[in-house]
Amino acid sequence: MNRVLRPQRLVSQAVSDAARLVAPSGIGLDSPGVRLRMVERLRRGGRLDEAVLQAMERVPRHRFVDSALAPQAYEDTALPIGHGQTISKPSVVARMLSLLREGQGAQQRGGLGRTLEIGTGCGYQAAVLAGLASELVSVERILALHQGALQRLAALQPELGWARTPRLLHADGQSVDAWRGPFDSIVSAAGGDDIPAAWLQALAPGGRLVAPTQQAGGGQALTVVDHVLSGGRSEWVRQTVEGVHFVPLRSGLV
Ligand code: SAH
Repeated sequence: MNRVLRPQRLVSQAVSDAARLVAPSGIGLDSPGVRLRMVERLRRGGRLDEAVLQAMERVPRHRFVDSALAPQAYEDTALPIGHGQTISKPSVVARMLSLLREGQGAQQRGGLGRTLEIGTGCGYQAAVLAGLASELVSVERILALHQGALQRLAALQPELGWARTPRLLHADGQSVDAWRGPFDSIVSAAGGDDIPAAWLQALAPGGRLVAPTQQAGGGQALTVVDHVLSGGRSEWVRQTVEGVHFVPLRSGLV
């Protein structure tokens, strides 16, 4: 029998298949419509800050994940970013940044002011924060993630046109020397047993901190701390809001 073995498709077929496969998803993910739809779903859920939602409408989340996961980038889900870490769920990013914006200082100022993010990861939340803060410092302990985020944010700068490019540091966010306070807003994307004292010290009067912390009964909850000046004395007023699930805050650089 004269059978022709064809382990690969003809080049012409492969090219037309590739065009069919790549073009629609590429166009779909790059179009603002897909981001607007994701944010609209969040908006309908209520209690989120409008400035945060508008900042999220501008940031292409699919550019922060592996291309194989890009089709899921506009679902409300955490996705792996390598090194055992995840990109946070859009609804959780929106909630944490909304809590920051509700702080007294942010309300008076009309913005987050000088902001510190602990746990840059892939850089998605940093890109959203860069549209809301007057200055952003973001620290990451895993070198490869820090470098990836640097590249992505540099590539997005012309498109998003931040007044100030975020400052990304390869550093342990728990150590006091890693960055210089004071900050008006502090947000952590990793949860520890408690809020490190260094973060409280770095929080400016009128400032607000939002971070997941371990709860005595197990599980994590979002914790909000306000640095309040009363009669010239500093007080750190703490409240626990809803339960969450974040990757752990770890020590040291890798
Ligand atoms: N902000 C990211 C979420 C990243 S997950 C987003 O936009 O989705 C949290 C990140 O915190 C991980 O990348 C983890 O490596 C980092 N992390 C954990 N402990 C840290 C520490 N002590 N200092 C700095 N980064 C830390």
